[in-house]
Amino acid sequence: MIRIGLGRDLHRLVQGRRFLLAGVELEADRGELGHSDGDVLAHAVTDAVLGAAGLGDIGALFPPSDPRWKDADSMELLRIAFGKVKEQGWHVVNLDSVVTCERPRLIPCRECIRAALAAALEAPLEAIFVKGKTAEGLGPIGEGAAVDAEAVCLLEKQGSTN
Ligand SMILES: [Zn+2]
Repeated sequence: MIRIGLGRDLHRLVQGRRFLLAGVELEADRGELGHSDGDVLAHAVTDAVLGAAGLGDIGALFPPSDPRWKDADSMELLRIAFGKVKEQGWHVVNLDSVVTCERPRLIPCRECIRAALAAALEAPLEAIFVKGKTAEGLGPIGEGAAVDAEAVCLLEKQGSTN
């Protein structure tokens, strides 16, 4: 049986915060605002994986109203979420993702980001991909006020034909 999931997230970019993508810190003059560490890619990937398994979403699993998740390490949240997915017998076939922001450029850090996601999802490196885009100067992302991430994840498990 295979299942596909989609995740999407957006965070404001402000001074005095770290810019994290899948736990990898990029050099930037602004970083993601958020209740947790604001890691936009980790959040989109978590939602894609949970959605594919039909296990809810990141907001339900780790509610922002719960002080336990304040400044949380979002890659730890991803590992917890993936643990629940794995418990149901799923493994990751592949994950693809797009991060859209004007700055910083993602490409120099891409291999580190892929490796971090591959480790968290217990998948081979070639099953994980990350693309960087800009918004061509348009809208809040184009003005450098926000960063957006999208992810799709395909899961597979044995034992059923549908
Ligand atoms: Zn988020």
